[in-house]
Amino acid sequence: MRNNPYENFLKFMHKAASIMGLEPNEYLALEYPERELKVYIPLKMDDGRINVFEGYRVQHSTLRGPGKGGIRYHQNVEINDIRALAAMMTFKCAIVNIPYGGAKGGLTVNPRELSMGELERLTRKYTTAIMPFIGPEKDIPAPDVGSNSQVMDWIMDTYSANKGYPVYGVVTGKDIDVGGSLGRNEATGRGVTIIAIRTLQTLNQDIKGKRVAIQGMGNVGSITANFLHQSGAKIIAVSDVSGGIYSEKGIDIPDVLNYLDKGRNLLEGYKGDFVRITNSELLECDCDILIPAALENQITEKNADKIKAGIIIEAANGPTSEEADAILNSKNVLVVPDILANAGGVVVSYLEWVQNLQGLLWDEDEVNDRLRKIMSKAFDEVYQNAMEYKCNMRNGAYALALKRLLAAAQKRGVHA
Ligand code: NAD
Repeated sequence: MRNNPYENFLKFMHKAASIMGLEPNEYLALEYPERELKVYIPLKMDDGRINVFEGYRVQHSTLRGPGKGGIRYHQNVEINDIRALAAMMTFKCAIVNIPYGGAKGGLTVNPRELSMGELERLTRKYTTAIMPFIGPEKDIPAPDVGSNSQVMDWIMDTYSANKGYPVYGVVTGKDIDVGGSLGRNEATGRGVTIIAIRTLQTLNQDIKGKRVAIQGMGNVGSITANFLHQSGAKIIAVSDVSGGIYSEKGIDIPDVLNYLDKGRNLLEGYKGDFVRITNSELLECDCDILIPAALENQITEKNADKIKAGIIIEAANGPTSEEADAILNSKNVLVVPDILANAGGVVVSYLEWVQNLQGLLWDEDEVNDRLRKIMSKAFDEVYQNAMEYKCNMRNGAYALALKRLLAAAQKRGVHA
């Protein structure tokens, strides 16, 4: 049976709460999502068959602002995945100190098996089904695994058609032509790169020449690979769902990205000077920095002991189980947690939403400067909390978020 990612989230939250000396009563409310919606969507396929797809939208917390979080299209999506991802959004938004709560949505579907027409119709029906839940002041979706800017554009269009006027602020991660922000597409990978460089600086080390392995070549993994390559790191291994490639000399990242960009989104057909490895081999390869950027639960008690990287930057959400985290800790592996490392996406989503609400159009430098400031400050604050509580970066990140969330709960009086 799969690990329950929501249980994993709870274990991390409990650990930080206990380090802070909190009483269980103080954070009990955060153990439960505020709202959960489950929908069943009948869809007429291109061949005339009817399929019914399951979908979700979970709002974990609106303590600090409207719900915010991506929409995942994946065949394995279950309620506990979405619950965990929603809760992690609550903590992530608190860490980067933006005025959002946490939410997440998803459909149990393999988008690769749908035609474009089927994907569009499914997205529009899902939008209609969750429409009472979402809105610029309520809950603002964004892309996640299996969804992208085109999916966001359809959501925006469906929502706007129902309202009778364009509502750009209902989703983020849209195309530039329909209210998207410059820099949003690259934001998560740029944020991961900022955090990786910051991590090395605190260790008095340089990114140049560091040997990096990256699992996942989607939006986050490919853009992180590109920025780190440009920063002078040596990317020695990358992978996607079809498997990985490894080269001690360093992989030609621009060439890989060029290959993947041409609609060929699987590495299995790529040819070059490298050896083929599996995803497990990638995780265990001899490197300085490991960046999981695919799915959750990749580093578990089964392989944590075999990890050779000294630093792990969690670009994916929930890649490490709590048991694995303890093993890595005992091996002195520095793990920069997901709720800090991959927050660049939601930061620029916030900047997109601000521009949409105010009719502003910022240039890319302005967006990137704001992203850099917010991520750097969040890193420093997490680091300070880790020092204050004499704990690792993950516990420090959870502690910082808990402080902010509990302060909001106390001032609002939601426990009354
Ligand atoms: P994506 O769909 O663009 O890419 C996912 C990548 O993972 C693909 O290369 C795919 O082939 C690979 N993959 C899928 N299953 C795999 C498996 N079993 N083993 C190895 N590789 C596998 O998704 P994304 O947007 O890049 O998201 C990746 C991770 O980053 C997810 O955990 C997501 O929640 C997280 N994240 C994404 C964003 C964002 O802005 N897109 C923001 C924050 C966090």
